[in-house]
Amino acid sequence: MALTPEHIVGDLIDIYRKVDEGQRLSFEDGMRLYETPNLNAVGYMANIVRERRHGGRTYYVRNQHINYTNICNKFCKFCSFYAKKGGPAPYQMSLDEVRTRLQWHADVPMTEIHMVGGINPRLPYQYYLDLVRIVKEVRPGVHVKAFTAVEIVEIARQGKVTMEQALADLIEAGLDSLPGGGIEILSERVHKELFGKKLNGEEWKNVARAASKLGLKQYATMLYGHIETNEERVDHLVQLRELQDETQNFLTMTPLSFHPEATELADIPAPTADTDLRNIAVSRLMLDNFEHIKSFWIMNTVPVTQMALWYGADDADGTVHEYEITYKDGEFGNKSQVLTRDNMIKMIEEVHRIPIERDSLYNEIVREEEPAPKVRNLTAVPMANA
Ligand code: SF4
Repeated sequence: MALTPEHIVGDLIDIYRKVDEGQRLSFEDGMRLYETPNLNAVGYMANIVRERRHGGRTYYVRNQHINYTNICNKFCKFCSFYAKKGGPAPYQMSLDEVRTRLQWHADVPMTEIHMVGGINPRLPYQYYLDLVRIVKEVRPGVHVKAFTAVEIVEIARQGKVTMEQALADLIEAGLDSLPGGGIEILSERVHKELFGKKLNGEEWKNVARAASKLGLKQYATMLYGHIETNEERVDHLVQLRELQDETQNFLTMTPLSFHPEATELADIPAPTADTDLRNIAVSRLMLDNFEHIKSFWIMNTVPVTQMALWYGADDADGTVHEYEITYKDGEFGNKSQVLTRDNMIKMIEEVHRIPIERDSLYNEIVREEEPAPKVRNLTAVPMANA
C-alpha cells in the first residue's frame, strides 16, 4: 500500500493542506508543529517547502570566521566565548594578527570572511573600519559579513555617531552584510533573564531596519534550547516574518543550537536531535518569506546537518576554518574547525542532495580549475507516493 500524505501527517492534515496550497501558517499552527510527537510529519511538510524552492540543491560557501576579540562587557548567561575567570583567557587581535590569520588560508579560494566579536570597550571606532579594510586589502573581492546589531551599536557609541552613520562608514570601508545574531530570541522575558545588557528586541529591529534602508543585506538567527518556551520560539519566527514582510532584506534564517557547556546554564541538557531538526523544520514552515534555511554544522553536528537537509534546510553553511564562539578549551576540543570543500561535498552527497557552492548572496560559483562535484541526478527524491 502506498503511503499517502494523510498517513504521514495524521492529525496535522489541516496544516499539510495549507502547506500544499502555499498558505501562510498561523501562530497556532506553529505551536502544534512544536508540540506534536510526530516529528516525521513536521519534517515531511518542511521538505515539501524546501524542495518546492530548491529541489535537492544544497548550498555551501567557502568562508573563514574571525572572532577578533573575546573581551566583552555584556556577560550573557548563555555565552561560553567571552573571557572570564576560570574560562577563556582574554584576547584582542591586532590588525596585524587579523592580516596574518587571513593569510593562513591564502591558498583557499574563499568568497566570504565572517567576523564577529565581543563588546570590547577598549576598541576605538577606527579599529572596526580598519578591520574591514584589511580584509578587503588581503582578499580583494571577498564578501565581508560582519558585526551583530549589538556590535553596530557599540561601534556607533565609540565613534560618537548615529547608528546609521556607523553603518554608512562601515559600508564605505567594505562591509557587505550583517550576519544576524545579537538578539538570540525576540522575547523580553528571555532578554531580561539571559542577556539584559544587550539590545532588546525593538533596538535590534531598528538596526535591521537601518541596514535595510542602506541596502546592506542581512541574515537572521534564533538561539534555541536554553530557557525559551515553544510560545517564544513561534513568536520569534512570527516577528521575523513580519520584519521580512516589511524590509524584504533577510537572505537566510539559521536556527542555532544552544551549547550549555562552560556557560552559566551548564546544568541545562543540550538540545537533542529532535529539537535541532524540529527547529529547522518549523522555521522552514513558518518563514514563508525567507528563501533559505541553514543548518550550521558547527552547532548541529555533521550527522544532524545531514538529516536537516531532509527537514527543511537547503544550506549547510561553509568551510569555516576557525570558530571560537563555542570554543571549548583544553580537554573539550580545538578551535580549528574546518570542513574542506571535499568534506562538504561528501557530507551533502552522502544524503543524496546536490552540493552547490555559492557566494554570500547565493550566486552559484563554478570553478573551471576544480573538478565538479559528483552531482547525481538527484532532484526531489519522493518521500511518499501521494
Ligand atoms: Fe558578549 Fe556576545 Fe558573549 Fe553576549 S554573546 S557575552 S555580547 S560575546
